[in-house]
Amino acid sequence: MSARASILPVFVPHLGCPHDCVFCNQRRITGELSPADAGTVREALSAAAALPGDAGKRQLAFFGGSFTAIPEAQQEELLSAAQEGIEQGIIGSIRLSTRPDAVDGAVLARLRRYGVETVELGAQSMDDEVLRLSGRGHTAEDVRRAARLVKEAGFRLILQMMTGLPGDTEEKSLSTARELISLRPDGVRIYPTVVVRDTALYELWRRGVYREHTVEDAVRLCAKLLPLFEAAGIPVIRLGLNPTEELSGGGAAAGAYHPALGELVRSRILREKAELLLEGTEPGSRAVLAVQPRLLSQMLGPKRANVSFLRGRFGLSELRVVPDPSICAEIEAVSVEKP
Ligand code: SF4
Repeated sequence: MSARASILPVFVPHLGCPHDCVFCNQRRITGELSPADAGTVREALSAAAALPGDAGKRQLAFFGGSFTAIPEAQQEELLSAAQEGIEQGIIGSIRLSTRPDAVDGAVLARLRRYGVETVELGAQSMDDEVLRLSGRGHTAEDVRRAARLVKEAGFRLILQMMTGLPGDTEEKSLSTARELISLRPDGVRIYPTVVVRDTALYELWRRGVYREHTVEDAVRLCAKLLPLFEAAGIPVIRLGLNPTEELSGGGAAAGAYHPALGELVRSRILREKAELLLEGTEPGSRAVLAVQPRLLSQMLGPKRANVSFLRGRFGLSELRVVPDPSICAEIEAVSVEKP
């Protein structure tokens, strides 16, 4: 199933999770207050039954908690309700997210029995010190072991990483990305750290012990991470937390919360490509860049920020960006006229 499969989310906030990661307040992140049960799953299925589209490509997704850390009876209740959806032809498969240390052979055999197709592991970092400071309660070795088991059992594997965690650095994030690539996942999600109210991280930030990972920090770093994954043929299926009313309404106190973070990152990547093309341009020059039409707004940036930046950086008297479907690359320099 492709990463474009439509997703029917069912959130299981903090249900069964015995841990307390410093950044986590699942109730705020998911915007949901009561834990899911079989009734929640059936409601989601009956709402989806009326939707148009290819039901075979629809996946019911248990997100927001550590699914396989839930007591077995509750897992079975949720999975069996979801499986009814497969039998009724409302969904094609099930996906879920969990912790690397809550996965073993018996757990995976249970998931397989109920028609789970995709397992997401919250790796977050491959640096043990970062994992420790973040209160994750697992090691990088747990991630390697769980990823191997998930793949060997024939599931699609999605890995999640975070940037800007306590103790994290750009080098550690790049090295995490390289290690995740070596585990050959079918996709990754990148979640730059957001300081959510009512979390341990919020207190650390308020006391000045933790310096926030700003939107700009995240954009700069993710503009390096994204090309690494894409060059390895691994799709980045999400970049940044899904916006919710709760987070936008003040739940996100600081950090890399932006409703269109992925767009900002892609726009930055194009800006950096344009910088390479314009390298050595004399101040006062007039330049024209051609861009694939589908990338025009990304190239211009929000409120034409990329154009202003490039003009300022190179002292250009004029910079025109023109859409051109005939160019071979994503972006090309058409002409640079010296002053
Ligand atoms: S393991 Fe997941 S659900 Fe549990 S505290 Fe950490 S982030 Fe939250």
